[in-house]
Amino acid sequence: MKTDQQFDVCIIGAGVAGGVMAAYLGRNGLRVAVVEKNMAEQERMIGELLQPGGVIKLRELGLEHLLDELDAQEIEGYALFMNGDSFKISYPEEGGQTITGRGLRNGKFVQRIRQHILSIPGVRVFEGTVHELIEEQGRITGIRFAEKNVEGYQDITARLTIVCDGMFSSFRAQLSANEKKVSSFFMGMILKDCNLPFKNHGHVIVAQPSPCLIYPISSTETRILIDFPGLEAPRKSAELTTYLTETIAPQLPAQILTSFMTALAEGKFKVMPNHLIPAKPFNRTGVAMIGDSLNMRHPLTGGGMTAAFSDILNLGKRLTALSSFENIEAVDESVQEFYASRHKHNATINILADALYGVMQNEDLKVACYDYLKSGGTHALEPISILSAISRDEPLLLRHFFAVALYGVGSMLKPFPTKKRFSRSYNMLKTAVDIVQPLVMNEHPNLVTRSAFKVADAIF
Ligand SMILES: Cc1cc2nc3c(=O)[nH]c(=O)nc-3n(C[C@H](O)[C@H](O)[C@H](O)COP(=O)(O)OP(=O)(O)OC[C@H]3O[C@@H](n4cnc5c(N)ncnc54)[C@H](O)[C@@H]3O)c2cc1C
Repeated sequence: MKTDQQFDVCIIGAGVAGGVMAAYLGRNGLRVAVVEKNMAEQERMIGELLQPGGVIKLRELGLEHLLDELDAQEIEGYALFMNGDSFKISYPEEGGQTITGRGLRNGKFVQRIRQHILSIPGVRVFEGTVHELIEEQGRITGIRFAEKNVEGYQDITARLTIVCDGMFSSFRAQLSANEKKVSSFFMGMILKDCNLPFKNHGHVIVAQPSPCLIYPISSTETRILIDFPGLEAPRKSAELTTYLTETIAPQLPAQILTSFMTALAEGKFKVMPNHLIPAKPFNRTGVAMIGDSLNMRHPLTGGGMTAAFSDILNLGKRLTALSSFENIEAVDESVQEFYASRHKHNATINILADALYGVMQNEDLKVACYDYLKSGGTHALEPISILSAISRDEPLLLRHFFAVALYGVGSMLKPFPTKKRFSRSYNMLKTAVDIVQPLVMNEHPNLVTRSAFKVADAIF
């Protein structure tokens, strides 16, 4: 059975990426079908801190109003905590004003995006599950889906199918060289009426054994994410409660302890895996991927939605600039150009996320990083401009990354170098190279960067 229309674009999934893609294409005159398996509001612990760079991208897409009416909280920067010490770094300013991010409820944000696409005349939304991509003579020509409460399957044909079905994508394996790694798990709880030590700031607790993140997501709710390194997801148990009470709680700021212990006693928590999935799409015609189906990084730096919005602007501009969607070669070319160019926009977001997570797993680098950022000036301002995704300057990121390691070496060798201190310094530098090199290689580096890492390989 076919639906009655031929669409320019069919989008699988109306989450953050699929919804915003549909809104942009629909508002710019394309005929768009969206198939989403569950249109009801979800209780989610992902995608709740939008970096300022993501707010800017939404503005450039003409969709910043989607952040209104969510009780979203302006985020002005980050505060870092370690061993009872703390300091804050503000996001960069423009015209004397801080460029802010947003803390929000992901489920509410997604519903607001969906309400908006339902109001766009060129966009048709189906609630149903996509089961397969339809292929004709090697080209993807649409999708087969089962609509909710309707028997059997329906087909939608489109010049381009955009897969936005998220982290557990059913189509990633057939469309890309799917290399998926779980780095750790985040356990998330909502803290009620919690007064953060630094109002309107993201809080990073540089804890043992792994970091915790805390940020406001509404005027009454604060999210806490606790990292569990390794491949084993934490499960509800007396042992877990003891761990959270005796190991994690003492490392949290005193102001939030009452809310934390109340949330713990209520026992309402969620656990999500944190993936590293470099983008390695195959050269397939009639299809593109956006969002978590294409590319994932550790959520420590809250970069996922910003990366998705950058990709949407990149691909969306190319597609809406086409004089006709009948010319499928031009559509395919736009997709290939998008894949080839996207690294330049998203490399810093991807590299920083997993590099910083790697740093947090190494005791010496962790201390070096905290002290480096605390020393202020450009040591704080330039890294935060990259974290906020206002700057996408990859050489600047790499300079600061290695400057952290060298700063650590400088401190390590004090008050005078010893054999043991030399050996730890060497290990710190080697670990820094080992952490960042594969991440850089995932992002199609230029010849100079490749050569620099070859030299580093020879040294270490
Ligand atoms: C623990 C955690 C915390 C995070 N925190 C942040 C953060 O603070 N800031 C940030 O920017 N990013 C964060 N991220 C990443 C961010 O959440 C994602 O990058 C973003 O949500 C990706 O959007 P998406 O549209 O690709 O996927 P999703 O938002 O998951 O949407 C996928 C959609 O596809 C639908 N779907 C799936 N399969 C089908 C099918 N077969 N047929 C039809 N529909 C289908 C789903 O129902 C869903 O609506 C976090 C990630 C994790 C794991």
